[in-house]
Amino acid sequence: MSPAPELKATLTLPQTAFPMKANLPQNEPLRLARWAKLDLYAELRKAGQGRPAYILHDGPPYANGPLHLGHALNKGLKDFVVKSKTMAGFDSPYVPGYDCHGLPIEIKVDEQLGRKKLEMPAPAVLDACRAYAQKYVDLQTSQFERLGCFGRWDKPYKTMARDYEARTLEAFYGFLEKGFVYRGLKPVYWCIHDRTALAEAEVEYEMHTSPSVYVRYKLTSDPEAIHPALAGREVYTIIWTTTPWTLPASLAVAFHPDFEYVALATNASGNAGHTTTEGAPSLPLSSAARVGEHEPQPGPVYIVAAELAPSVVAACNLGEAKELARFKGSLLERTTFQHPFLDRSILGVLATYVTADQGTGAVHTAPSHGADDFYTGQRYGLDPTCRVDASGRIHVDPEAWHHQAPPAFDGKKVWAANPIIIAMLEESGTLLASSDLHHSYPHCWRCHHPVIFRATEQWFIGLETPVERADGSKTTYRQLAIEEIDKVVWDPAWGKERITNMIATRPDWCISRQRIWGVPIAVFLCENCNQPIMDAALNRKIVDLFDREGAEAWHTTPTEALLPENPVCKSCGEVRPPGHAFRKEFDILDVWFDSGVSWFAVAESDPDLKDAYTAFQNNEGVPVLYLEGGDQHRGWFHSSLLTSVALRGRAPYSNVSTAGWTLDEQGRAMSKSLGNGVDPVDIANRLGGEIVRLWVASIDFREDMAASENLMQRCADIYRKLRNTFKILLGNLNGFDPVRDRVPESELLPLDRYMLARTRELTEKVRAWYAAFEFHRVYHAVNDFAVVDLSSFYIDVLKDRMYTFAPTSLARRSAQTVLWQITEALVRLVAPILSFTADEVWEYLPAVEGREASVHLAQFPNPEDVFSEDPTKLLEEWKQLFVVRDAALVLLENERQAKLIGKGLEAQLKITAPGKLFDLLKRHFAGLKEILNVSEVQIFEGTSSEMAVLPASGHKCARCWNFMPEVSAYGIWENVCTRCQSALKEMGIAPPQSESGESAQ
Ligand SMILES: [Zn+2]
Ligand SMILES: [Zn+2]
Ligand SMILES: [Zn+2]
Repeated sequence: MSPAPELKATLTLPQTAFPMKANLPQNEPLRLARWAKLDLYAELRKAGQGRPAYILHDGPPYANGPLHLGHALNKGLKDFVVKSKTMAGFDSPYVPGYDCHGLPIEIKVDEQLGRKKLEMPAPAVLDACRAYAQKYVDLQTSQFERLGCFGRWDKPYKTMARDYEARTLEAFYGFLEKGFVYRGLKPVYWCIHDRTALAEAEVEYEMHTSPSVYVRYKLTSDPEAIHPALAGREVYTIIWTTTPWTLPASLAVAFHPDFEYVALATNASGNAGHTTTEGAPSLPLSSAARVGEHEPQPGPVYIVAAELAPSVVAACNLGEAKELARFKGSLLERTTFQHPFLDRSILGVLATYVTADQGTGAVHTAPSHGADDFYTGQRYGLDPTCRVDASGRIHVDPEAWHHQAPPAFDGKKVWAANPIIIAMLEESGTLLASSDLHHSYPHCWRCHHPVIFRATEQWFIGLETPVERADGSKTTYRQLAIEEIDKVVWDPAWGKERITNMIATRPDWCISRQRIWGVPIAVFLCENCNQPIMDAALNRKIVDLFDREGAEAWHTTPTEALLPENPVCKSCGEVRPPGHAFRKEFDILDVWFDSGVSWFAVAESDPDLKDAYTAFQNNEGVPVLYLEGGDQHRGWFHSSLLTSVALRGRAPYSNVSTAGWTLDEQGRAMSKSLGNGVDPVDIANRLGGEIVRLWVASIDFREDMAASENLMQRCADIYRKLRNTFKILLGNLNGFDPVRDRVPESELLPLDRYMLARTRELTEKVRAWYAAFEFHRVYHAVNDFAVVDLSSFYIDVLKDRMYTFAPTSLARRSAQTVLWQITEALVRLVAPILSFTADEVWEYLPAVEGREASVHLAQFPNPEDVFSEDPTKLLEEWKQLFVVRDAALVLLENERQAKLIGKGLEAQLKITAPGKLFDLLKRHFAGLKEILNVSEVQIFEGTSSEMAVLPASGHKCARCWNFMPEVSAYGIWENVCTRCQSALKEMGIAPPQSESGESAQ
């Protein structure tokens, strides 16, 4: 008696054409083509009309290479935001951007052009840069699209586009006309051989031999003010430098405010300057005392950092120097010293970059020859005038040289000046030690000569510029920027303090670069006074020119064609015929200025964004989000804030979110040399873009994110499980027509109602997490729901009902109604993350009239549409049922291990429960058998909770395998339970006759 095949054929097993094997690398490109055919991005814009706006303004990646994982993370997160906002009922356009100007591209193009560049006119060089950037704009665009990111990819914004360049210049003029811009000095790397400024990236470190000198500076202010023990003593500090040629520019000595300094008493009467040529040890300073009397003369006192004192004593041969006093560096602020050979007072200043690694802890400061020195000089009002010319010749400061003949270093190149200056130090008795130092030193990348720092004229935006608040009260630009930071929501919250500190302490913004690939600072400078012509009408004319012809026009349009007939310099009153008294400035703007005005060039100007962005600026409740890596507090968040505060008096965003770094599993940065990189394009090609997306969703992006082949494979495993859940859901919807078969909520079976309540709860949570950008919580909750609620529970216990009940029975339609609602909810809830798969599932769902062509045009489910009741009480009740179920499963498993029973259906459960729990079980009695997956349940009221497993009574039904009180023959089929028999009747399956019987007819 084996009824199997025929009887099995009467079961309603899941059936769907939805493939289990995803074949993502092959199928994703086909889906992209489908979206392109649908013109999905345009359809989304149409659908969004009239909805409240949500603007995610894209921070432009630099267009100089293929995507790396950081890009994929960045764009993936943005895509989650845009898609989830769209599905939550917002109109959320996404205009991606590219940062195109700047040195990395110019250097690459330089390398490609080689010497040819020198003969090329500027526009030809710009063309080459433009082509180079465009190549990577196109590549990155195709790669971002491959990952399933939606956006206006056919028309991204580019900082090198004509209109963008025109807006950048317009923004600069805005600063200029509002009085934020000034020209001033700033030290930059300078090659005296090529006579040009060098960017940091154009400097290479090579070995170089420099003179290393220790020089004493005599204290001229009151020593007692530093420490009582110094009263009446001859006090010096000691500086150490490897660039003696900068000593004529020495204006200050910097001390660390928090370091301990010591005053070392030596017993020499002596003159310093007991130096020797390199190699040989210096004579000890105390030699005079040693050969002298028993009573040592009180010698000079030297102030150096306590930590460095032993090494300074050794290097300068200070002999038996004794600590006379000890004090904090902060006490040395505004002390004064005598310059070693010039008639100049040297100021004691404080600076936290002073280190205790080498030197003396007292740092010679020449504001015109060092970046740190320059900013320290700014803080103390020191003059940064540079007396080294473009070819590296030093010129004496006439204010500090009162001798008839010029000093020997006057007019000498810096390297030639070194020995001359050392000799002057020796002569003045201020040289304590001198030797040679072989060290790593910056060199020019072109000519390989050592470079210097040299203050040159640059363009600045002044942070202390006076401005007015919206209410008309007066403040400074810096202060207003800080006040605006406070109005922004920073996520994570520490971002606020970070950017506030940066704005509070930053120096003025140097916006000029001596390069070509960028937006020129298109002004005319007066040859007489070096100030720009201030003429708003002229500025408009040049902006129009840029709009028509791009930044190249600055190089190709003659001065005469632009200047008015008799231009006047407002600064000095100079009037000359055009082209004679004014020259074009060819410096370009800092690229951070370019991208920093994207709110102006794009958000405020682009037809797709401007209405919503203007509404944001007018405080009409439109959110504007900036979402980038954590380094952008120094970069794009920062420059965008400064430009918007200056030009619009407000922050350019309402929300700023920052992502951590992508690291390997050991927490190391990814690098070629370690070979630990994960290429998102390669993952997309091998495993699927969906796997990259799932990885982005898997970790809280606010932290650093680990990535590796291993983790990607794990995401692929998770993906397979989710896909399988969708396949089972779709399979169980076979034969279900929502219009015809949907069971009203009030008639659903209790288990099904519970699952709807769970789905409502999930929907509420997931929507809230999307709103808070907690994508990793969405990821975990959806996984748990698929694995725990669906696969291990609901779908499992439903098998009996779904497979053996009559397909059209209320009980089965009740389950199908809920499975359908779950699938409809889930497919929408995962669509922002699993964009390819959700859209695929969408096509296999039962047809509903008016359904959107893509899941991405649909909206998230409303919780109350999923389940109309407040689910709290119901869920609470089921929590208790699950406690019973969990206990039953453990018990059944134990019995199975002991071989007392086989499958759950071979068992019956006897449950004894006290009072309330008994009442609960009684209320749910009809469904207990199903959720406990046994053939029989008996409940008893008792004083404590107990549970026992017994073999099921009755007989095993050959069709449904339940043990039933009564089984009988159904035609030729033996042992069919009464429940199955009525199901078969309902299905219109007549009791089959034996073959012989049939043939007998
Ligand atoms: Zn050079
Ligand atoms: Zn002038
Ligand atoms: Zn049965």
